[in-house]
Amino acid sequence: MRRYPKNKPNYIFISGGVLSGLGKGITTASIGRILKSKGFKVTAIKIDPYINFDAGTLRPTEHGEVWVTEDGGEIDQDLGHYERFLGEKLSKNNNITTGQVYYAVITRERAGSYLGKTVQPIPHITDEIKRRITTLVEKERVEFVLIEIGGTIGAYENVLFIEAARQMNYEGRRVLFVHVSYLPVLGSVGEMKTKPTQHSVKALQGLGIQPDFIICRSEQELDEPRREKIALFCSVNIEDIIANPDVKNIYEIPLKLDEQKIGDKILNKLALQAKKSNLSDWKKFVERMNNATKEVKIGIVGKYFDVGKYKLRDSYISVIEAIKHAATANDVQPKMMWIDAKDFEEKESKLKILNGVDGIIVPGGFGSGGVEGKILAIKYARVNEIPFLGLCFGFQLAVVEYARNICGLEDANTTEVDSGAKIPVVDFLPWQKELIKQSKYGATMRLGAQVIRIKRNTLAWRLYGNDRVIERFRHRYEINPKYINEFETHGFIFSGESEKDEEIMQIGELPEHKHKFFIGTQAHPEFTSQPLKPNPLFNGFISASIR
Ligand code: GLN
Repeated sequence: MRRYPKNKPNYIFISGGVLSGLGKGITTASIGRILKSKGFKVTAIKIDPYINFDAGTLRPTEHGEVWVTEDGGEIDQDLGHYERFLGEKLSKNNNITTGQVYYAVITRERAGSYLGKTVQPIPHITDEIKRRITTLVEKERVEFVLIEIGGTIGAYENVLFIEAARQMNYEGRRVLFVHVSYLPVLGSVGEMKTKPTQHSVKALQGLGIQPDFIICRSEQELDEPRREKIALFCSVNIEDIIANPDVKNIYEIPLKLDEQKIGDKILNKLALQAKKSNLSDWKKFVERMNNATKEVKIGIVGKYFDVGKYKLRDSYISVIEAIKHAATANDVQPKMMWIDAKDFEEKESKLKILNGVDGIIVPGGFGSGGVEGKILAIKYARVNEIPFLGLCFGFQLAVVEYARNICGLEDANTTEVDSGAKIPVVDFLPWQKELIKQSKYGATMRLGAQVIRIKRNTLAWRLYGNDRVIERFRHRYEINPKYINEFETHGFIFSGESEKDEEIMQIGELPEHKHKFFIGTQAHPEFTSQPLKPNPLFNGFISASIR
């Protein structure tokens, strides 16, 4: 056994083998949940080896949804899994990209800080990686940090991050390595194959890292002979080969890993005293989720992202999870129907499909694709009293729909779609226009947590039960303050306003005597939804959808 310094933070690096998309993020988040349930202060870092500074400029078809942290970070969706599973708020510092690391080093070099030295990948880049990890750990005073290294072993782009991990171990810190690998079952022989995992562990060993645990992702159960083989060929104790076969419900994974005592094994390796896991609330949540039989059909009307033959639902991952949390709290099983808004543009009669759903969500989005179809769907929800929840762009378009069809402002639009709109009910604010004049388009985005002041005696107030709530934002356009009066005289209620900035409308709704549930928000409430604590707007929406 290695000897570790006492009373220092513990670093657990998680790498991936064989192929991407194994759910390393969920595995990382699950281990975090287990350790947290044992009473430790835990955080998680995602390393994204791409050159982009952050995920802010990435198209959703590239890496799925962009997660937004309270401090306004635009980050890989894995951070969302961490926050949901850990029940902790993370910051933008919990994400490290190649872009950030090089940017910092080059900036320092330009400032002359390296005093004429040759600046090199090792040690300067690896030092910067280690500095970022240890600074976060010291600042947050955590006992455990899980560091997920994006990509797979054998790729070029994550080599320096792996090297930094190796150095941290070599330097005598309290470090463990977890390798998440894949065991394919070869159709023609019907046998589970360990060779790809053996190869990927060899590649990892070649980089100076011996894994302490191998987590085996597979479609089928891992059996004893395979376990023995992996242990022998990879020099990992047989009890540290952990099975992680596909499950229907991702929230089961902390339970599955806890059954195999991964938490205790981690503590044991680090010479820490064993502590009992307390996952009883989590278990109750999972059982409740699995036991719900009554179905609720939710239509999600969006612009869909097809990549080749595959649809990337990853773009809406937090919306999906928020629906699941709220459905569980209401003891129903959500059935999500993905409806392409463009279908309605081609043929309005297709709107009839919405008769078959219990509730409609129009999620966030950018640009003009499918906008008119979304507006038609919102009108359909309003007129036919189908519960409706508009998220960010969905809220803005609900306002456009109301302007056109109730306020009689036929030419109403958002300037995002029509920059010359005659009636710009959704538009940039004056300070943003100023920035655009200075070609600072990037700086016009309103990002991160904001306080919303909730108006009493409204649907929003009934749902939140609070005068002030915090939600997260990621948008540029705003309801144009010029038209607020017009809307209100026509019966639309702005029930949430920004506390900080005057006249920024954050939540809008129809009175409950007019529509059983029609609400939209400029925020992204899906980012604050937790398994054990669903977001009130989603909760209210699901509850109205089953009524
Ligand atoms: N495109 C809209 C805006 O920028 C909405 C953004 C979103 O839905 N996240 O304001």
